[in-house]
Amino acid sequence: MERILITSAIPYINGIKHLGNLVGSQLPADLYARYQRGRGNEVMFLCATDEHGTPAELAAAKAGKPVAEYCAEMHEVQAGIAKGFCLSFDHFGRSSSPQNHALTQHFAGKLAEAGLIREVVEKQVYSNADGRFLPDRYIEGTCPNCGFEKARGDQCEECTKQLDPTDLINPRSAISGSTDLEVRETKHLYLCQSAMKDQLDAWIDSKADWPVLTTSIAKKWLHDGDGLQDRGITRDLDWGIPVKKGADDWPGMEGKVFYVWFDAPIEYIACAKEWADANGKADADWERWWRTDKGAEDVKYVQFMGKDNVPFHTLSFPATILGSGEPWKLVDHLKSFNYLNYDGGQFSTSQGRGVFMDQALEILPADYWRWWLLSHAPESSDSEFTWENFQQSVNKDLADVLGNFVSRITKFCRSKFGEEVPTGGANGEQETALIEELTTRLRAYEQHMEAMEVRKSAQELRAIWVAGNEYLQSAAPWSVFKEDPERAAAQVRLGLNLIRFYAVLSAPFIPQASAKLMEALNSSDDSWPSDVAAALSALPAGHGFTVPEVLFAKITDEQREDWQTRFSGTRD
Ligand SMILES: [Zn+2]
Repeated sequence: MERILITSAIPYINGIKHLGNLVGSQLPADLYARYQRGRGNEVMFLCATDEHGTPAELAAAKAGKPVAEYCAEMHEVQAGIAKGFCLSFDHFGRSSSPQNHALTQHFAGKLAEAGLIREVVEKQVYSNADGRFLPDRYIEGTCPNCGFEKARGDQCEECTKQLDPTDLINPRSAISGSTDLEVRETKHLYLCQSAMKDQLDAWIDSKADWPVLTTSIAKKWLHDGDGLQDRGITRDLDWGIPVKKGADDWPGMEGKVFYVWFDAPIEYIACAKEWADANGKADADWERWWRTDKGAEDVKYVQFMGKDNVPFHTLSFPATILGSGEPWKLVDHLKSFNYLNYDGGQFSTSQGRGVFMDQALEILPADYWRWWLLSHAPESSDSEFTWENFQQSVNKDLADVLGNFVSRITKFCRSKFGEEVPTGGANGEQETALIEELTTRLRAYEQHMEAMEVRKSAQELRAIWVAGNEYLQSAAPWSVFKEDPERAAAQVRLGLNLIRFYAVLSAPFIPQASAKLMEALNSSDDSWPSDVAAALSALPAGHGFTVPEVLFAKITDEQREDWQTRFSGTRD
């Protein structure tokens, strides 16, 4: 039995995510976790909400709530939606947890001990009206280059010129609009990533099996221009993890917090401790996943994320771990995704464009979305959601192929043999050929799943469903029954066993339908059907079942058009 640690990039707290976010990390991570559990491996699947930083403060202010209260509420909302999509996290944590506070402070202390943190005095814009320092992007003004009046302190969105806040003409606070700004000195901590460049370089070089896309992004950050830069890890904010050196105060850093990019990935680890604490387990139980000196030596650690997150996961977080000098587990495999576009444009959280996770569940059960999203995952390039394609894929793959197969075989059996697996007859040439084809396809499916090739896995699964349909079509037990009921009984017995075979194989993609099928078959045997011949005789003659309700309803043209209109604008 293998031990596999899986993390999904953690979603930011300020709002509900869209389907593009879902397919970029959480959903494929769940597919992989479910598959690995299905194979009998020990899995720890972790995700959390990313709760610190200015955007959380601003969203809370907009909602008229204290930021801690806002985050607690939004965490519950996101957890509920994750459940709705059947995301099977072992724990869904919070980066604002006490566990993450302690661990982030611990890492900072270790990095300081190793001489990898330096103090830098910076000049930063302070807003007297807001009573706070303003991050660059929360200062607005007129662009000195093109005259655009809403340029941000870090960049003009109109002409794309990179800016310093002091470049802006008529600068004002993006929070309050106040122009009562001044430049003040403030001290910050920097992580000396540049000092770790060679160590990180050697570590990346040791990852010969990583996709070129991943290593090339990391190498670019390591070597382009002046190479990997030191990075500020603190902020002048109220909301966040107070800057401390382990459990001790950090003189001169009072009132400051760690920068969200520093504490967010540490939550991957802290989340495991949250899991242990929430389940009354000992520290040893989570440390055996994360500490190579405490049992994690044989753990395989896989991360899922969108491509924009690759630099943080290949450089910044490893710099924190390696720099600590402690034996924490580093990532072994990293699966990154391109972007999913929406109907001729981009999904956009800020513009409310596309279908959001809560809306999706209001119109259809999770399996419909899971199947479409995973079978169209943006792996080698960006992909696009269109309602036509969604309708076609659901109706064809789920309703016509899988759903129809289940309905035909169970209903035919009920009408001719009753609601139990029929007895009599034996497998012939057709059945032997089917078992051979399914065995070949199953091996391919396993390989693709193991390699986290999401689309290829979906294609193979679909081909496995199709093979059963084609068998049923050509075996035609409804014709055979008239001449040779024994032969028809053998065919139907095989068909009913195929349903269980499908339920087990399809569970990672469509867990709800899979559970429905297992229930209809009155079976709890969800062991992996490695031996196809054996699996197809697992339900013995006489085993009772019930005809399940319609597994997947077809999407009508009317529904499609209705949704197309409803989701063409922006949400509130
Ligand atoms: Zn400009």
